[in-house]
Amino acid sequence: MADRAVGALIVGGGAAGAACAEALHAGGFTERTSSAGTGTERTSSAGTGGEGVLLVGREPDPPYERPPASKGYLAGAVERDACLFHDAAWYAKRSIELATRTSVMRLDTAARTATLSTKEVVEYGVALVAAGANVRRLRVDGGQLEGIHYLRALGNADAIRADAVEAEHVVLVGGSYIACEVAATLTALGRRCTMVMLEDAPLSAHFGAAAGAFFAGLLRDHGVELVCGDGLERLEGDHRVERVVCASGRELAADMVVMGTGAMPDVMLARAAGLELGERGGVACSADLETSARGVWAAGDMCEYDSILHGGRVRIEHHEVARAQGRAVAAAMLGTRRPYAEVPYFWTEIADWCTAEWVGLTEAPEHELVRGSPDDGAFSVLHVAGGRLVAALSVGRGEDIAHARRLIAARTDLRGREAELADGDLEAF
Ligand SMILES: Cc1cc2nc3c(=O)[nH]c(=O)nc-3n(C[C@H](O)[C@H](O)[C@H](O)COP(=O)(O)OP(=O)(O)OC[C@H]3O[C@@H](n4cnc5c(N)ncnc54)[C@H](O)[C@@H]3O)c2cc1C
Repeated sequence: MADRAVGALIVGGGAAGAACAEALHAGGFTERTSSAGTGTERTSSAGTGGEGVLLVGREPDPPYERPPASKGYLAGAVERDACLFHDAAWYAKRSIELATRTSVMRLDTAARTATLSTKEVVEYGVALVAAGANVRRLRVDGGQLEGIHYLRALGNADAIRADAVEAEHVVLVGGSYIACEVAATLTALGRRCTMVMLEDAPLSAHFGAAAGAFFAGLLRDHGVELVCGDGLERLEGDHRVERVVCASGRELAADMVVMGTGAMPDVMLARAAGLELGERGGVACSADLETSARGVWAAGDMCEYDSILHGGRVRIEHHEVARAQGRAVAAAMLGTRRPYAEVPYFWTEIADWCTAEWVGLTEAPEHELVRGSPDDGAFSVLHVAGGRLVAALSVGRGEDIAHARRLIAARTDLRGREAELADGDLEAF
């Protein structure tokens, strides 16, 4: 028996969860509209009305943006409050109940109840599970030494910034955007940063060889040392990390280490609830983001959905995608169900040295076509596969991103014209 009932339960106070709450409020969500989303009529057994929205998040802060945690917030240039989507009063004024420092411990999708860490049992009409992802922790010798950091939350950024005050040498493990951004931010603060990565160049795994070569040059030009094609073997030190030993045997002095080794979708609650999981580690969802349980949706980093745009199951870890999926789920809860088909968008800021934008999805491209000149710092790389544009990265050429987004969304057939993409007028395609 539930202690009370809500119309919509949102599990996870991150980018997706907050976007869903905002859109539910904007759409005038009530329990009646939530029934429209599921196609079922239901009544509240707790008898408390069950009309409102409950947003449950385990972190101490109201929902906030993570991107500043490796950029302006880490640099000390952006205040904590500026990272919040809204302050707590914003939610209260809109009758969105915000439960921070609270976890959903159990989800019973048959009874439509959630058990919170406060022991309260809440009945829900519809639910969004947006539990995000956790950092991928490497099991290596020395991994427990002091001075080793992972970065997901603002609190991690606080710890990195505090440690960096004393550190001279910082080693970053990984060639991802997190490692690149943190290396750039700390270099700009006067630290000596070395990146160790398996890839031949930073960001090449996601954005391709041409982009990788550009970012390698950019980072080196600003003083970041790059160790490419080498892995982490172990970390050494007495209590605190002092050295990084690479697979090649190379040793790097380190006063602190930041691990940019990726993230894993947080499916603990979903798995225990019996939701179907996907092959990419997320929660398996239909094209309109509903999970295997009726009336329960997923969004954000943990959402693995049938993409009509990409022709298969995809899972995407981008801020704007999490926001857009949260809004799409709200629309479904409000009664408008349609396949989620927005073109993925991502951006990265490498200190104030460069901002890059990306649209589409990483696939092994058959062709990488470069427009403009990386040497001039204004260029785009268009990724073509199967006669279609599948993705594009751009630095300083926003108009290319707009055209790329249009061509990807329309799945425009470019067969026989691929080479024209390099210097032709994209408007003409
Ligand atoms: C440092 C950093 C920098 C980034 N920079 C960029 C960038 O520049 N560009 C970009 O596009 N993307 C960036 N990203 C990625 C982007 O932030 C994520 O894709 C986005 O946050 C995903 O949103 P989400 O809502 O799915 O998950 P999250 O934002 O992770 O939110 C999920 C929340 O759910 C909570 N939770 C989990 N389980 C429960 C439970 N059972 N009960 C209650 N709460 C629970 C978690 O604690 C978490 O607060 C960055 C990520 C990080 C970590």
